[in-house]
Amino acid sequence: MRNRADACCSLFPLFKERKAMTKTAGFPREAVSPLLYWYDSEARDLPWRREPTPYRIWISEIMLQQTRVSAVIPYYLRFLERFPDPSALSRAEEDALRKAWEGLGYYSRVRNLQRAARILVDSYGGELPADRDELIRLPGIGPYTAGAIASIAFGLPEPAVDGNVLRLYARVTADSSDLSAPKVRSRITEDLRGLYRDYPEDASRLTQSLMELGAVVCLPNGTPLCGNCPMRPFCRGCREGNPSRYPSRKEKKERRKEEKTILVLRSQGRIALRKRPESGLLAGLWELPAEDGVLSPEQITDRVRNMGGVLSGPPVCCGEATHVFTHVEWHMTGWAADLAVPCPDLTFADPAEIRERYCIPSAFQPFLNGKARG
Ligand code: SF4
Repeated sequence: MRNRADACCSLFPLFKERKAMTKTAGFPREAVSPLLYWYDSEARDLPWRREPTPYRIWISEIMLQQTRVSAVIPYYLRFLERFPDPSALSRAEEDALRKAWEGLGYYSRVRNLQRAARILVDSYGGELPADRDELIRLPGIGPYTAGAIASIAFGLPEPAVDGNVLRLYARVTADSSDLSAPKVRSRITEDLRGLYRDYPEDASRLTQSLMELGAVVCLPNGTPLCGNCPMRPFCRGCREGNPSRYPSRKEKKERRKEEKTILVLRSQGRIALRKRPESGLLAGLWELPAEDGVLSPEQITDRVRNMGGVLSGPPVCCGEATHVFTHVEWHMTGWAADLAVPCPDLTFADPAEIRERYCIPSAFQPFLNGKARG
């Protein structure tokens, strides 16, 4: 059986290496046809690709930020069933919306979706505008998402430049610039914008093929699968022999580590919940009461007293868990206790109610489902 690299070369005889060696400082134009050809035959069948309306592309792109495709698919299907258009999204109850997002994390995304949906209903007749500059003014839509909606859904010549596309670009053009520098990103975006203008009919497929190749062939971690890649004859990084050296990597800043004490306070079979502040990490979500630092049982008893409650006995350690956010890591120790007098400002709910009505971030789940390390 032929391997995919052989198949590639025979599928694209006109694009063999010698011809492709011819210059171009930016993205090689001669790579576009093989790239689109590859996309048409190899692209994954993803739900948002079946009916790429602006609304569907918008929802999928927001969900896909920081989240894997396989994790997004069931959320995407359920979300569209419940909120099929901007109008339905604009009317959604806050708790129902958060519940539909529960598990995806980064809840500011869903808050921004609703804020933007309300603007669409009020000012755009309930439709997304076919204009990158107008899209970018909507809450939660940055240059990448605006480019994705503009090109994929509206066919406009606007690139969508995310980490996958930047990595692919750096390897294809053997560009060792620092990709985190805004100047470098602008230069790459401008070069790609020129590419789109050269292929005005192919904006949607161009965006999707670049994203797809970056996601499944020109992989972020480990070795890129150059043998399966339609760009291989045109790829400078590959020709140099070590494409993984692109993009050049800057030392990552270490995440801040924070200790937390998590309280599982019970009263008549119900568990105490508290709403987090409306700004900052996990803003506005429900939590198990969390205190900064590692508290002793005596300190926990005092804290509960300060909250107006009284414990019926000493708290018992119920395990540890770690949760990693983008810039911070929580190292949590859980303590369970029964309340003789419930704290008046906490909300109490039984486990079934919590599952159905309350959106609790995944950081707290190990203490709710008994999966904290013993
Ligand atoms: S040939 Fe290799 S390095 Fe170049 S774009 Fe393809 S997978 Fe990436």
